[in-house]
Amino acid sequence: MRLVLVGPPGAGKGTQAAILSEKLGVPHISTGDLFRANIGEGTPLGIEAKSYIDAGNLVPDDVTVRMVESRLAEDDAKNGFLLDGFPRTVGQADELERLLGNLGTTLDAVVQFDVSEDVVVERMLARGRADDTEEVIRNRMHVYDNETAPLLDHYSDKIVKIAAEGTVEEINDRTMAELNKLK
Ligand code: AMP
Repeated sequence: MRLVLVGPPGAGKGTQAAILSEKLGVPHISTGDLFRANIGEGTPLGIEAKSYIDAGNLVPDDVTVRMVESRLAEDDAKNGFLLDGFPRTVGQADELERLLGNLGTTLDAVVQFDVSEDVVVERMLARGRADDTEEVIRNRMHVYDNETAPLLDHYSDKIVKIAAEGTVEEINDRTMAELNKLK
């Protein structure tokens, strides 16, 4: 399966992606994790991305798309993948379509995690990541509303909407039930 997960910061995409990746047998590709790994290793990509991430802004599309392109070219992504945190702009979605077109494939579905703002803030403050200060969280939400939410219209024919409140297991069960309907 080739899936994209969409939802506001703190919606639980990463948590669900890790479980779904095991169950579906496809790699979990998180652009946030890839950036953080590059920052940790001090690569040129990490150095370039850090100031954007620290401020809660998006890393420029060209940098992000190149990173995803090389990750999708790896062997384990040949038969499917779960993209978590990419695309985050309509421009990135267009680039993804182009990349997949070159590989002769398309997305099967776009899973939207639907969650209230109160729950999102609670979850982010609980995980305590470096970019989870109140000011940066606010900016990431603003960026989500402005840059990423338009993807929901863009992908309207592929959206599978999941009520993403409740326990991790409940949300996973709902997601698996919806994905099983696609088969
Ligand atoms: P995440 O782990 O998905 O919350 O991403 C953490 C941060 O990495 C975001 O706030 C952005 O600064 C950056 N980032 C992750 N994915 C993307 C993307 N697709 N495009 C641009 N920036 C991204």
